[in-house]
Amino acid sequence: MRYDVAIIGGGAAGLYLASRLSSLGVAVIESGARVGRKLLATGNGRCNLTFLRPLRNDDYNCREAAVFVGRISPDDTLAHFSALGLRTRTEEDRVYPYSLTAASVLDCLRRGAARAGADIFTGARVIAVRKESGGFAVDSLSADGTAKTVSAASVVLATGSDAGFGEDSLSLYTALGHTRRQFSPSLVPLLTDKESVKGLSGVRVRCALRAGDAVEEGEILFRDNGLSGIAAMNVSALYARGKLGRGDALFIDFVPEIPREILEEEFAASNLTVGELLGGYFHTRVAERIAARAGQTLSDVPDGKALAAAVKSYALTLEGVRGKDAAQVMSGGLPLSEFDDDLMSVLCAGAYAVGEALDVDGVCGGFNLQWAWTSAEVVARALLR
Ligand SMILES: Cc1cc2nc3c(=O)[nH]c(=O)nc-3n(C[C@H](O)[C@H](O)[C@H](O)COP(=O)(O)OP(=O)(O)OC[C@H]3O[C@@H](n4cnc5c(N)ncnc54)[C@H](O)[C@@H]3O)c2cc1C
Repeated sequence: MRYDVAIIGGGAAGLYLASRLSSLGVAVIESGARVGRKLLATGNGRCNLTFLRPLRNDDYNCREAAVFVGRISPDDTLAHFSALGLRTRTEEDRVYPYSLTAASVLDCLRRGAARAGADIFTGARVIAVRKESGGFAVDSLSADGTAKTVSAASVVLATGSDAGFGEDSLSLYTALGHTRRQFSPSLVPLLTDKESVKGLSGVRVRCALRAGDAVEEGEILFRDNGLSGIAAMNVSALYARGKLGRGDALFIDFVPEIPREILEEEFAASNLTVGELLGGYFHTRVAERIAARAGQTLSDVPDGKALAAAVKSYALTLEGVRGKDAAQVMSGGLPLSEFDDDLMSVLCAGAYAVGEALDVDGVCGGFNLQWAWTSAEVVARALLR
């Protein structure tokens, strides 16, 4: 079987790429029984496929990734999806399929790849990429032990990471001479000291979560042993990038829109009890924890200063993050420095990499899928030249 391009991995980046290469002979080789399994799980099944706001410095782990996304932006991506028939809607700068169903994105990519004429082989785990005359031999093995080899002029590693139920297949390229940064979980629930979250498991709040100089506004969900929710997940990216460590303090501001002095005055001037005051703002269990932090009971007369301090700066100690199974993405992968502006290997001509297999990770909000689309588009344009 001889192709122009062999794409290893039928996930977000691999399928997008296949849908762009209609003039080339393309094979997509996917280990799963079906393509795009992870895509179906994105955005709680709704797939937050990209974002519509200017890029910030810390949206990606490295400046180079932001430069690529600046070059091939969400607008370019949405134009391709629109040509494939996908309609979208936007909620607070986050773009979703109009159906609010991730399957719509997957269906549209699958149709796009089929229309482009790609051959899709599922249930075939790639076990080796070998250089051969005129390109590469890609060896795969199916669950029943059947071996298959696909030959192609170019090969693209689109195997993602082992976050969630993914696989770590970077050894396919380290065998070609590439180095790698070990994967570590990012966008993953935080583990904190148990005392700070005691009795709060299952409670959601909109707040600001402060870690060092960074402030993440959004929802957090208290768990038995820590925090999840978008604000907490984004703080975990700082941990993955080495900007935060075990033992560091985190602070929750339960009312980011009200300055501390105003809150102090309100509390001090009130003739309500602590319980009545806090109960007007927060879930009962949150009110109890805040009161305890301020050294008060719910029936006390409010100590304005102490209470405002506990509301605006509720401290927790970071004890780490959960493992890869609970992560949305992994930090780490193949270094961008070993790939050129077309994302072709500088060590092995004709070998490309896209998506999460590269050492690029973004924050919550569609930034990781946008990286998958952008990197796939970069490689598509190079292969079509
Ligand atoms: C629960 C969850 C929710 C998420 N939500 C969002 C979101 O809303 N927005 C967002 O931007 N990002 C989200 N992400 C992250 C996003 O899904 C990934 O960043 C993105 O899918 C990466 O695309 P990829 O193509 O690089 O890898 P993947 O989509 O993971 O695809 C890789 C494919 O390669 C296959 N593969 C691996 N090894 C081999 C091999 N040896 N041989 C053959 N095939 C192989 C895998 O089976 C897989 O199908 C979420 C992730 C998770 C886990």
